[in-house]
Amino acid sequence: MSNSIGTPLAGRVAIITGGGSGIGRGIAIRMARAGASVVVAGRRMDILDKVCDEIKALGGQALAVPTDVSQKADVDKLIQTTIDQYGKIDILVNCAGIANVKTFVEISDEKRDDVWNTNLKGTWDCSKAAVPYMIKQKYGRIINISSVTGPMVANKGWTAYAASKGAISGFTRALALDLAQYGITVNAICPGWIKRDPTAKGAVISDRSAKLNASIPLGRVGQPEEVGDLAVFLASDGAAYITGTETVIDGGNIIQEQKGDF
Ligand code: NAD
Repeated sequence: MSNSIGTPLAGRVAIITGGGSGIGRGIAIRMARAGASVVVAGRRMDILDKVCDEIKALGGQALAVPTDVSQKADVDKLIQTTIDQYGKIDILVNCAGIANVKTFVEISDEKRDDVWNTNLKGTWDCSKAAVPYMIKQKYGRIINISSVTGPMVANKGWTAYAASKGAISGFTRALALDLAQYGITVNAICPGWIKRDPTAKGAVISDRSAKLNASIPLGRVGQPEEVGDLAVFLASDGAAYITGTETVIDGGNIIQEQKGDF
């Protein structure tokens, strides 16, 4: 039963892009534990396989599909492979994302396009390819992993990223309206500082940085699995009346008016 306590996603099929590491891995593991069959998509087969092995060791079902979300042919293959394997798509989590931290003055058009093609176009294309199947089954949950950076706040050097995540806010709301009539909900999650794998490309976010931990009201960076728990809720029957929203998960960080000594 899909809404039994403990396995609220039993019988559901979930695709998680960027599922090989960090937040995507946390979501994949939590969704599998909640009973979903999980399709883990990303560019690196080695880390996708590792996540699938972890899920299978927990008694869950998982399939790795090599996918670059910025390539439409890959996206179409991901959706077709999922249909061939499981016959449906209930949940799509658009989590694959990159940042290229350079100021507006420094960043090249090419690097800007890399960020937009993964974060925004990838989210659009995966949704576009999955939605026809969700419409057919009159059921679907789309969860876009956005950020507080862009929709709510800004960081110096993050223009390309902020623009892509800000656009995901508008996309989430507009798509929610277009798809409500089919029983499909669309929501975004806006994480603050969440621990990243030390080996991941880009900014290091360690949960051992005393300075970073101290700057966050709850006294620590978040764990990927905590974002996973929120995604499980948004994908569950308990969230059936929630659509077009953005939920911040940041330990209270962005509500602080000002930091500093007075
Ligand atoms: P991460 O680098 O571990 O995760 C990103 C994943 O996406 C990686 O597995 C990467 O291989 C994959 N990926 C990148 N480009 C891809 C592409 N073109 N096609 C397929 N897969 C691709 O880092 P993370 O911090 O866990 O980031 C996950 C998501 O969460 C991103 O969208 C990021 O913007 C967002 N986010 C993270 C934080 C944070 O503090 N960690 C905060 C806000 C938002």
